[in-house]
Amino acid sequence: MAPEDLLAPLIPRESLLWNGYPLFHVSRFSKDFSGRLYFVLGQGLGDHVNGFRILHELQNRFPEARFIVYADRRWEELVLRMGRIDIRWYPTALDPRSGKGTNDPYAGAHDTIREEMAAHPEEAYLAYDHFPMPDRHARGETTLEAISRAIGLDFRGEARPFLPFDEADGAFADRFLREKGLEGEKFALLAPFSWPNKRWSRERFSLLIDDLYKIHGIRSLLVAYPELGAFDNPGVVMAYDLTLGQIGGLLSRSALFVGLDSGPSHMAAALELPMVVIFVERKTIPFEVRALSPWALHVVEGFANEEREPSFESVSAAISFVLKNRTNLKGSIPRCPACERPAHYVWGTDCASIDFGCVCGLVIRETRPDHPVSDNALLEGATPNDERKRPEREIPLSTIVVKSDLGSLRKLRAVEERLRQGLSERLDLTFERGSKGALHAPSDKDPKEKGEIRWSQDALVYWMDALGYDLWEISLSDRQANHWTLRFVRRDKEAQGRGKKPVKIPWGDVILRLASPRDYGQWYTFEKWGRPEDLVGIVKSQVALGYYKEATRSARVAFWAKPSVRSLRWVGKALYFRLIRKGLP
Ligand SMILES: [Zn+2]
Repeated sequence: MAPEDLLAPLIPRESLLWNGYPLFHVSRFSKDFSGRLYFVLGQGLGDHVNGFRILHELQNRFPEARFIVYADRRWEELVLRMGRIDIRWYPTALDPRSGKGTNDPYAGAHDTIREEMAAHPEEAYLAYDHFPMPDRHARGETTLEAISRAIGLDFRGEARPFLPFDEADGAFADRFLREKGLEGEKFALLAPFSWPNKRWSRERFSLLIDDLYKIHGIRSLLVAYPELGAFDNPGVVMAYDLTLGQIGGLLSRSALFVGLDSGPSHMAAALELPMVVIFVERKTIPFEVRALSPWALHVVEGFANEEREPSFESVSAAISFVLKNRTNLKGSIPRCPACERPAHYVWGTDCASIDFGCVCGLVIRETRPDHPVSDNALLEGATPNDERKRPEREIPLSTIVVKSDLGSLRKLRAVEERLRQGLSERLDLTFERGSKGALHAPSDKDPKEKGEIRWSQDALVYWMDALGYDLWEISLSDRQANHWTLRFVRRDKEAQGRGKKPVKIPWGDVILRLASPRDYGQWYTFEKWGRPEDLVGIVKSQVALGYYKEATRSARVAFWAKPSVRSLRWVGKALYFRLIRKGLP
């Protein structure tokens, strides 16, 4: 059997059922499908423009279908532009400005859809709702990617939000910019408004406006609401209380976008703008809600330290990087040497370098574009102060000490080169787990080396997978130093029946007891971002989509990792569905 790529999207071959609703599946229907497709868009602006992408794609592929779209009236202006849809407004959801609205706007929509589906069996399907695949976190997917996968759509890494654009928006923007004296000028659009818990402080935005103006010679256009108050920094232009279309128009004319985990970031991603997004709270998993774009850096410094919000310095460094590499931003963001995905999360910065993180948890250090010292000088002057460091040619291919032997890109490539020759059947990687999660703490006292790598457990699993090795087991090799050893075996040397081998794997501050090491790659490779309580979410999602067998396994994992009334209840629910409900309509 060909090795299963841990990152390849596993698209279900057939329509799934989600809580009893039949889901659409693109491969099951021909172009002339003329039934009903229901969309229940998520309540936020970002949810809407992400949902529009799937709507737009299905409208193109199934021109005869009837599209019934449940939406939030707050985004009416954009919804009305989608064309060829039957719109049904659900009750307006809770809004950060008015403080009014409902917490569960979807219940009525679900009841109606259920009735209509019963009246039109075999020709009514749910095409968009909150039914993302249960392995989405392990795969580092956004909600848009995970939902499209469930209905058989594969955007091949090119998924993007969709913004219905009107020529009038562009005309408005040109008029507005002329009035404000910004016509023909490169400017940055800043969107500092969101829920209070997602906002980056006003003081830091103010520093940023000055930084952009004085260092980069770029004026800031501030798109927000009057309750944010006025800014009087030199060069700033305020554009408050605009319509969504007008915001879209201004976005289309801007050179850079800086925003938060909120709607305008998703609009900017749809327009493929170079952008920097600042994540403030740690409640959401940033990769799940991130604005999908290859031209974005996401500053997630709050995940690396105990600060609530990223520092001004890190945001400023990210912006310098984006501006410096504006013409080839996609190609300039470092690729993760372990899993090949773009390392577009900014973990932190100092005067000389930026730490870029991958969704797999690996962090790689790059020289800051605005640092006066050249790359070469930095490399020559650097000596990682690890006493156990060995020259590459002396690293044994049976026991590798991750921190010293794979601590830089240069060393990693040398070891990789030798491993590709397939000389080693078994390999032990010893690494130090930080007090929380797998990353060892940043070594701020060390001299910096460009290309310095800080590993995560998940990154090691991905890296070895790409080299043809499977995880076999993990053990604590030195309790005092918190050193763990991951044992890998070459895939073609696997012992028979190893799929059944139980294994214990550290995950954050808890231990996962898995029926097989393979389960780890499929469901749990999001250690860097997840919390033990998120493990129940996997079970919930598996039950909703009818993966009952897997759900009973995951429920046990979640319970042993964090015993609670909630996780125990899901053990019961998963069993009930597997034994009693399976096979019932
Ligand atoms: Zn990676």
